[in-house]
Amino acid sequence: MNLEDIKTVKSILSKPQKIVIIPHKNPDGDAIGSCLGLQSFLLGKGQKATVVSPNDFPKFLKWMPGSDLVLNYERENSEAKKLLEEATVVFTLDFNDLSRTGQLEAVLKEKSADFIMIDHHQQPGDYAKVTYSDVSMSSTCEMVYNFIEYLGEVDGISKDIATNLYTGIMTDTGSFKYRSTSSRTHRVVADLIDRGADNMQIHQQVFDNNSPSRLHLLGVALSNMVILPEYRTAYITLTQQELDEHDFKKGDTEGFVNYGLTLEGINFALIFIENREEGIIKISFRSIGDFSVNEFAREHFNGGGHDNAAGGRSDASMDETVERFNTILKNYKSQLNP
Ligand code: 5GP
Ligand code: MN
Repeated sequence: MNLEDIKTVKSILSKPQKIVIIPHKNPDGDAIGSCLGLQSFLLGKGQKATVVSPNDFPKFLKWMPGSDLVLNYERENSEAKKLLEEATVVFTLDFNDLSRTGQLEAVLKEKSADFIMIDHHQQPGDYAKVTYSDVSMSSTCEMVYNFIEYLGEVDGISKDIATNLYTGIMTDTGSFKYRSTSSRTHRVVADLIDRGADNMQIHQQVFDNNSPSRLHLLGVALSNMVILPEYRTAYITLTQQELDEHDFKKGDTEGFVNYGLTLEGINFALIFIENREEGIIKISFRSIGDFSVNEFAREHFNGGGHDNAAGGRSDASMDETVERFNTILKNYKSQLNP
């Protein structure tokens, strides 16, 4: 954030504001952690602040401090709408294009308020008064830490804020191992532990909560995996029927896509997941090295994200989608075999 932006934010927050904080649709640990961390910080400064999520978020995040007060725009629609109408400031966290907010997009496009974006995805939109965008960052949670530091208020980071920010940094970095994890990330995380984040307990709450049905679904996913060594690619499919047979709940497929990348010689991994209710196939893309899945998802599957982790969708059936993917892949043989 530059000096001008810091001045603008300080001036906005020097007056009492009605603040709404918004993560992207299907929020993950970084989206929820950054929103809750920022909310707790703003409440501590005497501001009014509410988190409004476009839809529900996974159970493995529902222990996070303040998570019980998140409004779900689908479920608590009238309350959320009213808060949005009254809002004087809107923070948008962990996304950079209003199309990432589902049904909220139309409301936000019409809304006149001071928008503040904090985000680490590529190609940011220009809807915000203050755009704090940095694609080199490990996570939006690390950026919220920086944001608080820019305001000179690191000492205002409570145990709850530290817990929320730690959780998002941990989930977005694959437990501190992805390329965007810097020495600075570790310094921030160390400070969050000093300020009360219980690293072992957070890890257990997020990762050690498997149900038998989720592990069985993982078994199905792994046996469905197709490996294409000549493209250094592995992909998984999960149909709605397979999800139904395993009592699928939001968040159950989190992390499945990464198994492909653990194969020796595989640098590109995908998972195709049918969502009958939305009539789409949701796709997650992951890569190791220089192959940009952000560009691949943007170009072919109406999505985007980061260089090594992106998402997208297809409106065709599972079979058609996979067939289309296999056709497209043929054009990438040399890029995938540098
Ligand atoms: P995931 O595969 O875990 O859903 O998402 C991986 C990354 O890509 C995340 O950073 C997420 O925010 C981003 N992402 C997921 N789906 C989409 C999408 O449809 N469009 C864009 N622009 N980014 C996405
Ligand atoms: Mn993120």
